[in-house]
Amino acid sequence: MTPLRVLSVASECFPLVKTGGLADVVGALPAALAARGVAMRTLIPGFPGVMGGIGGAAPVGGFDDLFGGPARILAARAAGLDLLVLDAPHLYDRPGGPYADPAGRDWPDNPGRFAALCWAAAAIARGALEGWRPAVLHAHDWQAGLAAAYLRYGAGGAGTPGVGTVFTVHNLAFQGWAPAGLLGALRLPPEAFHIDGVEFFGGIGALKAGLRLSDRITTVSPTYAREILTPEEGHGLDGLLRARAGDLRGILNGIDEAVWDPAADPHLAAPFDAARPEGREANRAALRARMGLEDDPARPVLGVVTRLTGQKGADLLLAALPGALGRGMSLALLGAGEAGAEAGLRAAAAAHPGRVGVRIGYDEGLAHLIQGGCDALLVPSRFEPCGLTQLCALRYGAVPVVARVGGLADTVIDANEAALAAGVATGIQFAPTTAAGLDGALGRLDALWRDRPAWETVRANALRAPVGWARSAAGYADLYREVAF
Ligand code: ADP
Repeated sequence: MTPLRVLSVASECFPLVKTGGLADVVGALPAALAARGVAMRTLIPGFPGVMGGIGGAAPVGGFDDLFGGPARILAARAAGLDLLVLDAPHLYDRPGGPYADPAGRDWPDNPGRFAALCWAAAAIARGALEGWRPAVLHAHDWQAGLAAAYLRYGAGGAGTPGVGTVFTVHNLAFQGWAPAGLLGALRLPPEAFHIDGVEFFGGIGALKAGLRLSDRITTVSPTYAREILTPEEGHGLDGLLRARAGDLRGILNGIDEAVWDPAADPHLAAPFDAARPEGREANRAALRARMGLEDDPARPVLGVVTRLTGQKGADLLLAALPGALGRGMSLALLGAGEAGAEAGLRAAAAAHPGRVGVRIGYDEGLAHLIQGGCDALLVPSRFEPCGLTQLCALRYGAVPVVARVGGLADTVIDANEAALAAGVATGIQFAPTTAAGLDGALGRLDALWRDRPAWETVRANALRAPVGWARSAAGYADLYREVAF
């Protein structure tokens, strides 16, 4: 069978550019799908970190004027990925992260920066590259949402026969809204400004366009796929999503088991796995030393790796801290995000030296050490499309304590009486996502920790839980074949 050609389009791709789980998923999908007869190329913007990470790139296409300047499409291989990089210095050669300046302010021309990515994707889908045209275009999140619009309204409104489209929403809260006045600048024709096109609350909705105009929609867990059909979790898009429910599927994310492998992780102090869990002890000690935590083998170390935002329950972590400390637990936290949460956590660390270790920033290596060294990982999200940190925690034997929402509900087996009796529990779930809910979960964690045989069983189950891509890759491959021409 000849491989199915798929163009994946996204603003992030691990290990070249990452702010969150989107990058992990986009970076892991190609290898997972190769085994399923899918040949995937991944189109990403040429941010400085990307340009620095691709050697031997060859120009394979270009544009004289792509939203204000010339641009090239480079073909490159990096980290096992077959990449197409949109080299457009006037849009992407800037300091800071992918979306914001070094002071954390979104670039004002973000609508155009990512529309350009979509424009290039649509051109490739129409056959702009010699010798390679995808049968399916798979776009991720709002940054890639307009690709479906350019396909639909391109070529004088005739649409683009010959390419199927799949759109994956990794987080419905980020919507890529732009004022209607930008319609022409974004090269969208007047007829696109329609409730069945790109129009969204009087402006242009990039996420909405992807959801409305793609052949199929996926999101990253079955529970989130149900939740976003409700007004409470639909972020203004639940009506559209209900109308398209027949085309919407929840496909659970996995993690890259080579990147996250406790038996061969350069960021760990000692290797371990399900057969040799005792290697965790050295990592626990290394984590305590790195975070300045006192040594107390008798009490659990809680870990957190997160964006510090309301979605992630950053405020709840602070509120639950007295209860955790009162139970003798300590905390190792790595995160970055909202200024208030960062300041509050810094103050907590200063107030409780030796018990609360906080690192503000982004640190891939420390994220691995926390997973390998903490006893339990807290994920108190108010909503969570899938969540990857709890999957990493399972793989690294850090018992996940998670809010019962979205993909957290789908990936952790709560240590209730039935699950404990059946010997299948892998963590603790709690609801609702409130300070009291989290405190109650810490109480249950404390009881579980004291019951050593039960604790060892839950940790052993966690270490063996399936967290890779095997099942989900099959789900995507089936979907591509449904829409491919
Ligand atoms: P998000 O909503 O942020 O995408 P996920 O749980 O899906 O949440 O993915 C988060 C990813 O980003 C994980 O790989 C996690 O390890 C990583 N991560 C989050 N915050 C940090 C940080 N401060 N430093 C290093 N890695 C981080």
